[in-house]
Amino acid sequence: MRLRRQKPDSAGTNRRGGHTEPDVFADGVHDLPGSSADEAILEVRKLSVAYVIDAGFVMAVDRVDLDLGRGEFLGVVGESGCGKSTLLFGIAQLLSPPARIVGGSVNFHGKEIAGLSDKQLRHIRWREYSVVMQSAMNALNPVKTVAGQMRDVCKAHSDMSDDEIRQRSEEVLRLVSIDPVHLDSYPHQLSGGMRQRSMIAMALLFTPDLVIMDEPTSALDVVAQRSLMVQIKELQERLGFAVIFVTHDMSLISNFSDRLAVMYAGQIVELGDTRQLFDSPLHPYTQGLLEAFPSIRGPKRHLLGIPGQPPDLAKPPPGCPFAPRCPQVMAKCTTIEPPLLDVQEDLVRCLLYENGPPEALAANAPTPVEIQELPERLPAGSAAGPGEGTSQ
Ligand code: ADP
Ligand code: MG
Repeated sequence: MRLRRQKPDSAGTNRRGGHTEPDVFADGVHDLPGSSADEAILEVRKLSVAYVIDAGFVMAVDRVDLDLGRGEFLGVVGESGCGKSTLLFGIAQLLSPPARIVGGSVNFHGKEIAGLSDKQLRHIRWREYSVVMQSAMNALNPVKTVAGQMRDVCKAHSDMSDDEIRQRSEEVLRLVSIDPVHLDSYPHQLSGGMRQRSMIAMALLFTPDLVIMDEPTSALDVVAQRSLMVQIKELQERLGFAVIFVTHDMSLISNFSDRLAVMYAGQIVELGDTRQLFDSPLHPYTQGLLEAFPSIRGPKRHLLGIPGQPPDLAKPPPGCPFAPRCPQVMAKCTTIEPPLLDVQEDLVRCLLYENGPPEALAANAPTPVEIQELPERLPAGSAAGPGEGTSQ
């Protein structure tokens, strides 16, 4: 099974060219082969998270398997409500009632962290992994300056002196192109983009190995979004931390992630190399997502949405949860739950691939979506540049 980033093949050939039989990703398989060069810092196995409510429970994350390599950028995409935030919170051990982990494990740096207490996590959170929330306005304390918030984090997780904290706070603000003069600003005095950048700066205070980001750009306009993405990528490459980046916007992530995990109804339905996934998506849901967003530079296309609604996770349908919306649904899809199949370098949860990739399907695959080029980098210090002057 391939939960981990694959090294490119030496010939550089299209790895979907051959016709190897798929391997069924059998339930209960946990050990992954891996060399030190392929070292995983995070191994998530069969992670399930439920919201326990009066009427029963909502299975928001359903047996998710995921690996993350050192310095890797993994994108997680899917429609609103598919369980992306719950997955991140489950990984980061930030769930609060009524949500709780009901199965599986989260192994970070070789240590099981699912179920650790806040006290036990104190030495890991912020220092080894940090989280950037969707809305900085909600995550930041409105009555504390940026410096005050950074001081709180440093005091809680280290024995740094006041001078060291001030110096480090200035350094991380510079990293995200914010003038350290803003350390004494309150969140409402910053633009939306600057607030998000301040959150990222805080997440980098201890230079963690993993930064988990939940739609950190979604409250910004398009120009500010892309400029922030470019900056996140540059920081990631410079400092070497791994990223799990959640977004509902596939076009935003296309230039930045090494691999993409596509979520639907609490499950990962496709996981693979970003470029391959854009060029030849396997799962009908991934194909639908790619058809649903415009290309800025490509030829004009008629955009097709995905008809219907995601299922109610409190009462998921039998079989494949995407079956009621799937244009390629087969009779068995409504009764058999598809396993995660290993199909030519990707993992895909779809019965279409039980016997390998059908030729007819390959011929009907949508036109590859052009990955949009990066915008010009905004000059340093332009955190309040075009589009960022408005608050969210
Ligand atoms: P995403 O981040 O992909 O938009 P979420 O992880 O926020 O999705 O939510 C996943 C599902 O969990 C939603 O479909 C919703 O039904 C359910 N959910 C989220 N929060 C709660 C809650 N507090 N109580 C019950 N169900 C919830
Ligand atoms: Mg969310």
